[in-house]
Amino acid sequence: MPWVLLLLASTVVASADERLVEVSPENVPGVVLDLRYAGTNNITGKSLYSEAKAYLREETIRKLRRVARELEGHGYRLVIWDAWRPASAQKELWKARPDGKFLTPPSKISRHRRGTSVDISLADRDGRILEMPSDFDEFNARADEDFSDVPKEAAKRARILRNAMFNAGFSGVPDEWWHYDLRDWADYEAIEGKGLRDSG
Ligand SMILES: [Zn+2]
Repeated sequence: MPWVLLLLASTVVASADERLVEVSPENVPGVVLDLRYAGTNNITGKSLYSEAKAYLREETIRKLRRVARELEGHGYRLVIWDAWRPASAQKELWKARPDGKFLTPPSKISRHRRGTSVDISLADRDGRILEMPSDFDEFNARADEDFSDVPKEAAKRARILRNAMFNAGFSGVPDEWWHYDLRDWADYEAIEGKGLRDSG
């Protein structure tokens, strides 16, 4: 009977999706979604996502919830620039900037594809994006974790963000102050997609 097959098919799809959860103010208090690859203000100049929604593994979201609470005590809100990233978007980014220092080549599995990694920044209590050491995907010395070459206030904010992320169980990378991973990111497999975003 056809309806049995339909039920089976939808169950399979649902279980694949369960590994990714949409990020919202309900699970990360005060979160500001400024998904740069959903618009054209990114290094490709193109919109890579069909929806301005951020998805991560539940474990990543649980830790971000802790970060958001700590930041609230400092008068800040967490901004998300990118979260889970499908392979199609990784390909577009690599085309725009084929530089292994900053991006994962399409031949490898990007950390963002595992749902364990986030690109983040800070906003004030009203949700206004604050000045930080550099812009998102600004691949130069201002982006690295040596904050001696950026304005003091921006450096202070980046340090507060770093402390909050480390306290919650994330690790960072030296060349991008905005990028964080679950410490055991390598234990998680890639998630191929929700069928929602495809840059073609
Ligand atoms: Zn990143």
